[in-house]
Amino acid sequence: MKNTLTVILITLVFCMDLAAQHQHFPGSSYEVDSRIAETDRERVLLAGEINESTVGQYLRLKLGSKMGEQGALAYDFHQKSGIGTHWVFRQTLHGLPIFMGKTKINISKQGRVMSIYDLSYNLPEIDDKTTVISEEKSKQLIQEALILEEGELLSEPEIVVYINEGIAVTGVKMDIGKQDHSGAHTYIVSEVGERLYETDIRRYCAPAVGDSLVSMKVFDPDPLTTAQRTYGAPYLDNDDQDSEVLNNERVLKTIRTKFENGQFILENDKLKISEFDPPVVYPVTSSQPSFDFTRSEQGFEDVNAYYHLSTYSDYVSSFDCVSEDLFAVQLQVDTHGANGDDNSFFQGIWPTMKLIFGEGFVDDAEDADVLVHELGHALSYYSNRNNNTGGNRKAIDEGIGDYFAASYSRFLSEFRWAFVFSWDGHNNFFAGRKANTDKTYPTDLTSDIWLDGELISSAYMDIWDQLGREQTDELVLASLNNFFDGMQFEDVARETLMVDLACNGGANCSLIFSVFNQRGMLNGDLTEFCQLDTFANEIEISGTKEFFMNADPMYLRVPESSEKVEVDLFDSNGRLLRSYENDNNAMIILNGWDFLPAGFYFVSVRTEKEQSTQKVMKFR
Ligand SMILES: [Zn+2]
Repeated sequence: MKNTLTVILITLVFCMDLAAQHQHFPGSSYEVDSRIAETDRERVLLAGEINESTVGQYLRLKLGSKMGEQGALAYDFHQKSGIGTHWVFRQTLHGLPIFMGKTKINISKQGRVMSIYDLSYNLPEIDDKTTVISEEKSKQLIQEALILEEGELLSEPEIVVYINEGIAVTGVKMDIGKQDHSGAHTYIVSEVGERLYETDIRRYCAPAVGDSLVSMKVFDPDPLTTAQRTYGAPYLDNDDQDSEVLNNERVLKTIRTKFENGQFILENDKLKISEFDPPVVYPVTSSQPSFDFTRSEQGFEDVNAYYHLSTYSDYVSSFDCVSEDLFAVQLQVDTHGANGDDNSFFQGIWPTMKLIFGEGFVDDAEDADVLVHELGHALSYYSNRNNNTGGNRKAIDEGIGDYFAASYSRFLSEFRWAFVFSWDGHNNFFAGRKANTDKTYPTDLTSDIWLDGELISSAYMDIWDQLGREQTDELVLASLNNFFDGMQFEDVARETLMVDLACNGGANCSLIFSVFNQRGMLNGDLTEFCQLDTFANEIEISGTKEFFMNADPMYLRVPESSEKVEVDLFDSNGRLLRSYENDNNAMIILNGWDFLPAGFYFVSVRTEKEQSTQKVMKFR
């Protein structure tokens, strides 16, 4: 029954995530891309220290039966935020990571489990057809793929187990970008060179040290909003040419930039305007503390992007409940990229973070909605580093980006705030989207991740109506900490409630419940969700069998009303070995008792009202 728990060191390779704002998302036919995470929301209290070992122990307790003889759960990484810690474990088979076999657990600062998202496979049901791929063979497969694709590696390749239709095989996983920057894919190739899996990681849009104050002229947020006009003559892109009406909509702002070697540079500690994606247009610098470009000049997009992205980055970094990893690495921004197409996208392969804006039709970096939407994808990646796969995860990320864009627009001006991409879209080039639809789940779902995202942006804007910009932005941004692959719309609602509980003591529970309930994303009644901490009616000790066999932790449940819980462990002679006290009325895990020799023990539990003593045995 017991498998030795071996912690396997795995190279941390995160899948690339590219998300974009306009084009239609080509649906995947791969089973791994449509998996839905199983969720577990039992509000267990993990007593004692929260670390890799105790979290792993708890997850193995929950999921151990899925690991079979040759599988294991191995620590991958964890993140910290203002609401708690967020842990990702990878499932392995024969010590090799299983592609998309993974689990995330979110634990509040108080040690309470907020949620578990499980995408691990039930290995006893899987037909194990894995083989050993030698390093030499692996190098050969990578070489062949690079030649075939005329590409270069974007991250360290790894040997993985790929599971499809219940069969596990071994393959080499690699992220390859075309040398001419025209595309980027993840591939998994079998030992005999067969392509097992492929995904386009570049999803085309159809959709500092700041040490000097400089002035710059920017659109704020876009020329149509400030002019209170809709797209149409004379407010036309007109192939990026200057026109008096458009140039007059530029607003003078001051902001900090880097100053180095006599030049003001569009860079700070969080982001940098740079050149890395074709066409080659180097960012502008200035010897004077002033950047004044008209819209036809290439420098205008640099300045506009720098101003809005910096302002927004500083703003979100001021929140308490958000991820500590926000801007942990500097974001690289190319405002003239995507081969000049009408595309913008975010590309993250930790620790490389890139935003790329195209110039087709209205230059994307001229519209703050596009800038903030793409920054939203980056904020999501900083907060959970996931690769945006399965369930409704992709649509959720699009909706989050649209929400941030709409929230920023509405803060700047009420004029047509709900039109996302006010300048870049809602014209004959690109339809754009809206953040105040009356869409409900699941009735209004399509297979288009951008249109489905309107459900998320609209729901969050409903909350904005009541709570305003800052509180809602913080709720949304902090919720990203808990997000994971394979999540569904309902999970967004539940994580928002969790974050409100962790961050605001549940002050907005009924508002959040009613918004998501009206949107069809949360069913049930208010008391079920807003009285989250309900537990057993009597003292209950479980897991004694596992303790007997493997010295695994035991669980303890006490009635909801208990204010204080005392636990004593005695040996068979009645000698007190350990005592434990807890003032939370929760489910508690008793662990760290594996040092005990085999034998009989007594666990005694006392609350103000009840007492229970149970004999437990330890086999080894
Ligand atoms: Zn997007």
